[in-house]
Amino acid sequence: MSGNIKEIIHHPHPTLRKKSSSIPEKKITQKNFQQFLDDLEVTMLSKDGAGLAAPQIGINDRVVVIAKEGEKSLFLINPQIIKKSWGKAIEEEGCLSVIDDKGRIIYGPVERHKRITCSYYDRSGKKKKIQGDERLSRVIQHEVDHLDGVLFIDHLMK
Ligand SMILES: [Zn+2]
Repeated sequence: MSGNIKEIIHHPHPTLRKKSSSIPEKKITQKNFQQFLDDLEVTMLSKDGAGLAAPQIGINDRVVVIAKEGEKSLFLINPQIIKKSWGKAIEEEGCLSVIDDKGRIIYGPVERHKRITCSYYDRSGKKKKIQGDERLSRVIQHEVDHLDGVLFIDHLMK
């Protein structure tokens, strides 16, 4: 991996609130896009994040990366949640882009669908589908929200 660590932007930066653009299929295998994927991954790993969405490094592209322990990171390009369970669960979430005035990550309870199915392109440009377990489903919902300008604090349970 030859990525460069990028700066993470924080709420209330306006880029975090923009709707991100889809990636043209042809662009996925291009060298500079692959470099960008590496940068996104290295930045996530450097902060020990569970996932990171492109807008969090200032780029409004529909790309997220999710950390998988002991496995290769999962890249989701143009992810679309195509199925949601009726069942929901509430768990604490945090976000590398939502910090307090001392730079600490803020956590709060968020209700999410327990299981989702997501279609996406992988980093080689193949169209795929993934069915998440409860934890992965939560991370995907959190990261896909970023691509629509939504932050977990918008969903906080009162
Ligand atoms: Zn986040």
